[in-house]
Amino acid sequence: MSNLAERSTAIANSCHMDHGGLKLAAVQNLYRWIPSTRRLAPLDFAVPQEYAELQGQMRAFIDRELRPLEETELDPEKDDIPLALRDRVRRRAAELGFYAADFPEDLGGSGLPQQGMVLLREEAAKSGCRLAGFTVYGPEGPTGLLLGATDEQKKSYLTPLITAEKSMCFALTEPDAGSDAQNIRTSATKDGSEWILNGTKHFITNGKDADFALVFAANDRAKKAQGGITAFIVESKTPGFTVGRAQVGMLEGDGQFELIFQECRVSEEQILGGPQNVGMGFYAAMQFLAMGRLSIASMCNGIAEYCIGLGTEYAKSRQAFGRPIGKNQ
Ligand SMILES: Cc1cc2nc3c(=O)[nH]c(=O)nc-3n(C[C@H](O)[C@H](O)[C@H](O)COP(=O)(O)OP(=O)(O)OC[C@H]3O[C@@H](n4cnc5c(N)ncnc54)[C@H](O)[C@@H]3O)c2cc1C
Repeated sequence: MSNLAERSTAIANSCHMDHGGLKLAAVQNLYRWIPSTRRLAPLDFAVPQEYAELQGQMRAFIDRELRPLEETELDPEKDDIPLALRDRVRRRAAELGFYAADFPEDLGGSGLPQQGMVLLREEAAKSGCRLAGFTVYGPEGPTGLLLGATDEQKKSYLTPLITAEKSMCFALTEPDAGSDAQNIRTSATKDGSEWILNGTKHFITNGKDADFALVFAANDRAKKAQGGITAFIVESKTPGFTVGRAQVGMLEGDGQFELIFQECRVSEEQILGGPQNVGMGFYAAMQFLAMGRLSIASMCNGIAEYCIGLGTEYAKSRQAFGRPIGKNQ
């Protein structure tokens, strides 16, 4: 077979409506078209036994506790999921060891490697249960950045995030600095042993409900990423810190929020990792975003698998021209 259309037809013909079979057959066929001299050893996609068991436990938790809760507590016509319900699911998931399983055991996690955490996130997302998204932490939950915090900061902020008793928000983006995050204008001015924050953040997830914000501010705008940005832990009740307007997006409820800092004073002890970490904030922010990409990708994989399942079922059950539409391909 010489051209791409013929190859695509051959692949399509070999695909079955069972979506497990469809993936495997398509991948095997694609692989055949790669010249043998350019083939790499195929990746092993098998899920290790211990992670498969963990996925099974997550499925059982969702079926046993969350689906009935979804049925009784959620209005299918409304996107919003009340905060109290989200917190209830998070805390129960933390109790069972799912929520922040990849954090160290001495801090309340289970020391699960990232592969396991990715599989847990996928499992939750592919369930199609609206409450399942809260069984594993998102940007409101613990962040690996706090592993580099001082012992006091870990005790006050990281441990209660791991048990889901507190939530946080990550405050980097500003109206004039999104992807160009080095150009943030929120300023941090030193005054004795305190820092004064001034500026506005926007699009901040969990901004309204967070117990504290991890705020990135410019201690020296000229230095930008190289020593000019510092990360501060700012508690939500700190004078000078207010929540602005909601910025409604496509996702649940109120969406993201503006955060406003006006002469907001914080102690130098509130710098992430302690006073010696002035200027180290940009590296921290980039690490946070890298972990976020992994967790969002896992969630997207799970959602895609759920959608393929729905589509396959529909193709088998929907009748047109006297037979299931899947037979009309
Ligand atoms: C649902 C949601 C949740 C969010 N949560 C948070 C949060 O919790 N905390 C937080 O700090 N921020 C958050 N954000 C903000 C997010 O980080 C920013 O939206 C993102 O950094 C992009 O910035 P921007 O929207 O200002 O787009 P811009 O920077 O204005 O970019 C607009 C478009 O131009 C493209 N572009 C820009 N520069 C270039 C270039 N040099 N080359 C090629 N293309 C370019 C971008 O890729 C983008 O497509 C959230 C955003 C959303 C949508």
